[in-house]
Amino acid sequence: MGIKKVTDEQPRVYFDCSKCPAYCCSIYERVVVTKRDINRLAKYFGVNVETATRRYTKLYNDERVLRRKQDVIFEEACQFLNPETRGCGIYHARPAVCREYPDRSRCAYYDVLQFERRQQDDPNVIPLVQITFREVKKTVVSNGNGSEQIYEWKQEKQ
Ligand code: SF4
Ligand code: SF4
Repeated sequence: MGIKKVTDEQPRVYFDCSKCPAYCCSIYERVVVTKRDINRLAKYFGVNVETATRRYTKLYNDERVLRRKQDVIFEEACQFLNPETRGCGIYHARPAVCREYPDRSRCAYYDVLQFERRQQDDPNVIPLVQITFREVKKTVVSNGNGSEQIYEWKQEKQ
């Protein structure tokens, strides 16, 4: 018998969701769901599509998103987040965006978690972060000393 070559088809990642309080399930106000996601939820819970839409989703500025609930660590979280294990309560029926996230080899929130645990010298501390989005316009203006960039704030991006 020859030596079995070990190959790893999975790309290397630098985060471990099982050691994270689930920032991604908590800090985003919108987890967008498609029709396909709602069909999957309906099947999973054994209800019709209308019931699943009403029960598990809501409209947020013309987008259909998952409903949220109060959370013990963050202010709010996805209604499907298990508050104790910090894992997804509907893992096999979760929406496409949850399957893809963060879609790269690093997760910024996991990096913040590790960074602050080192900074605070406390392996159990959880830094609370919030994220919101704002559109800014950058213009270059000239003055006597050359040019500088000016940021103009627009209303918060919904
Ligand atoms: S925030 Fe990052 S590390 Fe934490 S559960 Fe989400 S993807 Fe995983
Ligand atoms: S459906 Fe699951 S993975 Fe997606 S945000 Fe909610 S708890 Fe997180």
